[in-house]
Amino acid sequence: MKVLVPVKRVVDYNVKVRVKSDGTGVDIANVKMSMNPFDEIAVEEAVRLKEKGIVTEVIAVSCGDAKCQETLRTAMAIGADRGILVETTEELQPLAVAKLLKALVDKEQPQLIILGKQAIDDDANQTGQMLAALADLPQATFASKIDLAADKVTVSREVDGGMETLTLTLPAVITTDLRLNEPRYVTLPNIMKAKKKTLDVFKPEDLGVDVKPRLKTLKVSEPPKRGAGIKVADVATLVDKLKNEAKVI
Ligand code: AMP
Repeated sequence: MKVLVPVKRVVDYNVKVRVKSDGTGVDIANVKMSMNPFDEIAVEEAVRLKEKGIVTEVIAVSCGDAKCQETLRTAMAIGADRGILVETTEELQPLAVAKLLKALVDKEQPQLIILGKQAIDDDANQTGQMLAALADLPQATFASKIDLAADKVTVSREVDGGMETLTLTLPAVITTDLRLNEPRYVTLPNIMKAKKKTLDVFKPEDLGVDVKPRLKTLKVSEPPKRGAGIKVADVATLVDKLKNEAKVI
């Protein structure tokens, strides 16, 4: 069974991003980039399914500029068997990525596609859902447990009131939540091994996909600065301020 895992190259989660002075976006010049954390969880899960003997091949896919090769090599160091880069310098929005992934699903015919639930840069939480719609596949989002059998997959997902368990027929789309697993550390020997694995490169045109942005960003701005706090003398003053100044009680 083949599993496809889309991995996005994003600004590392430890970096405190700065908005560009012209308000057109976030400054990513000379900033550390890494694999989107939810995608690391997706790769880890696919590799564990392979280690259990259910999955035979894990294919990592990244869409973006040539530097996404680094992200694919990391996925292969975790244990993915090969990588596919869809190379473009165009700004990619979730719909464009979903269309590229749909073309790859048609080409590779995976039984399972495991994506992250959201990319930590655009926070869109759209690509998996759009892919499921375009490919007409069942979907289970925010998975915190995956049980895979030959012809179906059972997924537990956290919802407001508790846990929901779904059974999907394969092929299917799953998106990962934080609690699904804890990704392994990549070891140096595995980083070296990953360098020898196959990495194919396509252009969006090769897949017949028009990736032109459909949405226009009008402005990006910093959140308002938090005002300084104050110390109050006693509980009575605190209650008074909460009642009469903040008006929250
Ligand atoms: P988003 O809908 O942008 O929040 O992204 C959700 C998930 O879609 C990510 O966690 C990735 O698994 C996948 N994804 C989004 N953009 C890309 C990309 N450029 N390349 C590969 N996978 C992507």
